[in-house]
Amino acid sequence: MRKFDIPQRYNSPVIGRLKVMRSAADPRKRDVSPAVLNFGGITWIIPRHFGFCFGVENAIEIVHKAIYANPDKRIFLLSQMIHNPVVNADLEGQGVRFLHDTQGRELTPFSELTSDDIVVIPAFGTTVEMEAKLKGLGLDIEKFNTTCPFVERVWKRSAKLGADDFTVIVHGKHNHEETRATFSRACSTGPALVVKDRVEAEVLAQFILGERALAGDPGAGLESFDEIFGKRVSPGFSAVEHLQRIGVVNQTTMLATETQSIADLLKAAVSDRNFANTRDTLCYATVDNQKATLAALDQAEGADLALIIGGFNSSNTSHLVELCETRLPTYFISGAEALNEDASLEHFELASSKLVISSDVLAPKSDGSPLRIILTSGASCPDTSVDAVLQRVNALCGGGCDVDEVFAKFEGNQSEEPNLPA
Ligand code: SF4
Repeated sequence: MRKFDIPQRYNSPVIGRLKVMRSAADPRKRDVSPAVLNFGGITWIIPRHFGFCFGVENAIEIVHKAIYANPDKRIFLLSQMIHNPVVNADLEGQGVRFLHDTQGRELTPFSELTSDDIVVIPAFGTTVEMEAKLKGLGLDIEKFNTTCPFVERVWKRSAKLGADDFTVIVHGKHNHEETRATFSRACSTGPALVVKDRVEAEVLAQFILGERALAGDPGAGLESFDEIFGKRVSPGFSAVEHLQRIGVVNQTTMLATETQSIADLLKAAVSDRNFANTRDTLCYATVDNQKATLAALDQAEGADLALIIGGFNSSNTSHLVELCETRLPTYFISGAEALNEDASLEHFELASSKLVISSDVLAPKSDGSPLRIILTSGASCPDTSVDAVLQRVNALCGGGCDVDEVFAKFEGNQSEEPNLPA
């Protein structure tokens, strides 16, 4: 995989060292088992894959090149370049400004832009309409385009479906920048519709199979097709005409298990003949991180909790949280600042979309044994944030062992036996 030139400040002494050790021992990424690092009062169970992916490093490299090469120019990001507060604050600290927030609301009026400015397109890509708007202002949209190649691969898949007269079903979060970008491209080649999750896919399948009336059934409390999907279909979409032949593409960061089950469900609804068998369009980082998290959950018998670090609007990170939540107490945090001296923790609750404080999360166990914590992060989270959490918890909970000794022991375990929890 290509090496990117990203700022030194994103390198981390503990997690970075662990990653170097693990990739030296297993360059082909065959071993998906977690690393178990025993720091005394805390045993860390660290999945094989997490943190900056190809697309994120690519975006960070491009925007920093733009900053260094253009000290006299104003630099704008169309929206958050990636969904991580540390990286976005770092860019703002270097004078980069945002044109939109993640919901697409304007933060800086376009009327302020001139053809002399630099506008960076984020890793999620953008809509065809926005590209046209930027070009209309005389801006170069190619030079500082950080759209991830794995997102562009989805667009190609979607264009092929449209060209072959299939309606494109985009499985994604309809307000997410990437899904908006993919949907806008799908609309430019034919009919398209967005489904958010398995529940919505089931409703769509009922409409396709005629098990549910397109007009709905107010008496039975059932909404019509337009009430549910009306704002998420291409212009001129006809549920009668355009749900006969379909194919599915995904936002690259969706849950792999859900993605497969939605494809199977919709294929059964329209029959094999009318379903385009696209392979799933999740990206490698999503797949690797979810597999590694599941391996940590399977192999880390007796883990007490999981700490997942990332931006609260990060799709791939929230899916790691969902995976862990099914097995053990899980806390979605933005970084080390979430951890308080009194062993309480400020974390984001996915179900309520609210920040909450939980007490005694890091309290010592009654049997005196070390707390066992699964620690991971999303694809847009710097390893420095993971390091900071590890070190803060170690300091609060008596994980005082020397880092060199911990790694020496880990390396010894790796060479002698499978890396299973002690
Ligand atoms: S998560 Fe996947 S699609 Fe998104 S930037 Fe990373 S590699 Fe690209």
